[in-house]
Amino acid sequence: IGVPAAIRENQLAYILNHKFSKMPTIVVVGAGVSGITCAYELAKHNKDNVITVVAKHMPGDYDIEYASPWAGANVLPMATERDSRWERRTWPKLEYLAKEVPEAGIHFQKSRVLRREKDIVNGQCESPLSDGLFHPDPWYKTLLLDFRELSKTELPTGYHSGCEFTSVCINTMIYIPWLVGQCAKLGVVFKRATLKHISEAKKLSHTGKPADIIVNATGLLACRLGGVMDSKVHPARGQIVVVRNESGEPAEQGTGTMMVTTSGNDDGEDQLTYVMQRAVGGGTILGGTYQKDNWDANPDPNIALGIMKRTVEIMPELTGGKGIDGLDVIRHGVGLRPYRDGGVRIEKENVDGTWVVHNYGHAGWGYQGSYGCAEKVIELVDEIAGVKAKL
Ligand code: FAD
Repeated sequence: IGVPAAIRENQLAYILNHKFSKMPTIVVVGAGVSGITCAYELAKHNKDNVITVVAKHMPGDYDIEYASPWAGANVLPMATERDSRWERRTWPKLEYLAKEVPEAGIHFQKSRVLRREKDIVNGQCESPLSDGLFHPDPWYKTLLLDFRELSKTELPTGYHSGCEFTSVCINTMIYIPWLVGQCAKLGVVFKRATLKHISEAKKLSHTGKPADIIVNATGLLACRLGGVMDSKVHPARGQIVVVRNESGEPAEQGTGTMMVTTSGNDDGEDQLTYVMQRAVGGGTILGGTYQKDNWDANPDPNIALGIMKRTVEIMPELTGGKGIDGLDVIRHGVGLRPYRDGGVRIEKENVDGTWVVHNYGHAGWGYQGSYGCAEKVIELVDEIAGVKAKL
């Protein structure tokens, strides 16, 4: 009142442009690898970001609604070249952590990818796991270390080609708590809450102030969360067996058992075969399955038997030639990958007057794409806050 219209407009423009640039209040919904990596990167990127992570499940919980603890997890690029940004941008970060930060629980491991002729049709693999991983001339050959094609004499019976490279395996039990610690050091606050609607996050900042921006990293439950209800999101059930066995033959430039993944097997299209050894005593993961729209949280004993048979067949040295009787099982597990038709959703949306940045639907590559996706989330947050991204 009493202020000329031109000045009022200028003031409004100033407020809109600079509203969040000082201290954007951000609430991240979800404490899986997607949410926590976003919180960590947002906190590092701008020390003025005031960040609260709210989640139903927190690191330390094992629950069928919470994918992150169940992952192997390793880096085996799955995207096609066109969609490779997330994995490309994540690899240098994980490589750095494996090299320089032992307490993060990530180590280098040699990895072999084995292809069967019958699984590859017109250069595309029929495996549900991945479009890009089994490509005969994969884009990631220049990204990962020491890439080479295997010679015919190095291939197990039944495989017509394969490749080897140095990748990493993450002990998720160590890595996720490590990430939480890094966040806490930067002032990020973690709180438990179960939301019925994404807009509820607006009131959940630890500061008591309304959130300027909400980051939605709710994984599979994005299909049930009010205000999101994404019907493209489905579970892709992954059953695993965790064992104490190691091959006893340290890989040349890695640690412990070689990782192996195959393009297919004869036990069914949704059955997988892979082996990886988690860092710092996390055991060896034998996998697995990729069962779309299956919500069953209970390990199926017959599936477990199939997993153990296939993995010991591909890597007999795991039990010193004793077959599956030589396996020393720590536990059986089931996790649900947050699969999304059409791929991951990373975009901004105004919901009930508050900006929401979505970051969910990472299927089986949530770890290996985590930093690349967080980078995009930062770009969107900065766009909303009117701050130029300094990436
Ligand atoms: P989640 O980890 O599921 O976290 C979701 C978070 O949102 C939780 O904290 C949950 O409590 C919270 N939340 C959801 N809804 C609400 C609500 N309404 N209110 C409050 N909080 C809510 N990836 C790899 O990169 N490499 C691998 O080798 C690999 N192997 C895998 C093997 C298996 C068997 C499985 C199951 C997965 C594997 N993955 C792997 C995939 C990876 O685990 C997932 O992509 C990743 O964990 C997804 O993380 P997220 O943070 O998006 O979801």
